[in-house]
Amino acid sequence: MTRQLIEQAADIIAGSRLTLALTGAGISVESGIPDFRSAGGLWSRYDPEEYATINAFRSDPRKVWNMLREMDQVVNRARPNKAHLAMGELEAIGCLHGIITQNIDNLHQAGGSRNVIEYHGNASTLSCLWCGRKYTAEEKRDEAPPTCQCRNVLKPDVIFFGEAIPEEAMRRSYELASSAEALLVVGTSAVVSPVNTIPSIARGNSAKIIEINMERTHLTDSLTDIFLQGSAGEIMPLIVEAVKEKKQSS
Ligand code: NAD
Ligand code: ZN
Repeated sequence: MTRQLIEQAADIIAGSRLTLALTGAGISVESGIPDFRSAGGLWSRYDPEEYATINAFRSDPRKVWNMLREMDQVVNRARPNKAHLAMGELEAIGCLHGIITQNIDNLHQAGGSRNVIEYHGNASTLSCLWCGRKYTAEEKRDEAPPTCQCRNVLKPDVIFFGEAIPEEAMRRSYELASSAEALLVVGTSAVVSPVNTIPSIARGNSAKIIEINMERTHLTDSLTDIFLQGSAGEIMPLIVEAVKEKKQSS
């Protein structure tokens, strides 16, 4: 990764009237939350295909809660890293207009971002699939598994594979993506559907696409204009500094 690429990315952001970010599990790896791909950690013991589907939850919610409990502990300990903070700063200086995140860890908000669309929901509330009652995760933290007044096991308000995306998140994401002039894709392999349509929707509006990932993805050779390979915690602050310099000198 060269200085030149950082400068090019900063030029795009400084000149864009609407910049959007699409983030995934990779942005939270430096906060201690493993992504699906890295070796070790939670997902080497719990296959997401087996544990993160809505059918798995419906047929054996207690089994799925073994995984959810562990994930909850990891997420609870996590603090925003330099990438989350840099994005908060980019928004504060008026150069980032929204974040569409696939993460359910709340770390963008903790890092100072306000305009966050949680495409896959949030783990801080729980719902009953059977009677519709809602609870906060906090009030049910001591129950294993957390159970509704109607005696059924509660489900966290995160989107499992096979579940529909919240309508409002989809609508707002589409609106932003189709008017974006620049899109930052950070820490996602962009294989989970339908959120992986965001880059092509943005490209439909001729948005420039800046990708920051540890490894190349299917976007790298198709839609990406600038590929910055490496850790989001190192690269995002460099981009924000470069954008600030450009703003000051313009
Ligand atoms: P993924 O695991 O498929 O891909 C992660 C991507 O991030 C990879 O391209 C990898 O190279 C990159 N990466 C890893 N470490 C990085 C770093 N330090 N800096 C920059 N890039 C890094 O993740 P995904 O595309 O988000 O898909 C996983 C699905 O699972 C999503 O739907 C997400 O909702 C869910 N998930 C969420 C969390 C969370 O909330 N933190 C954690 C795990 C999984
Ligand atoms: Zn109930």
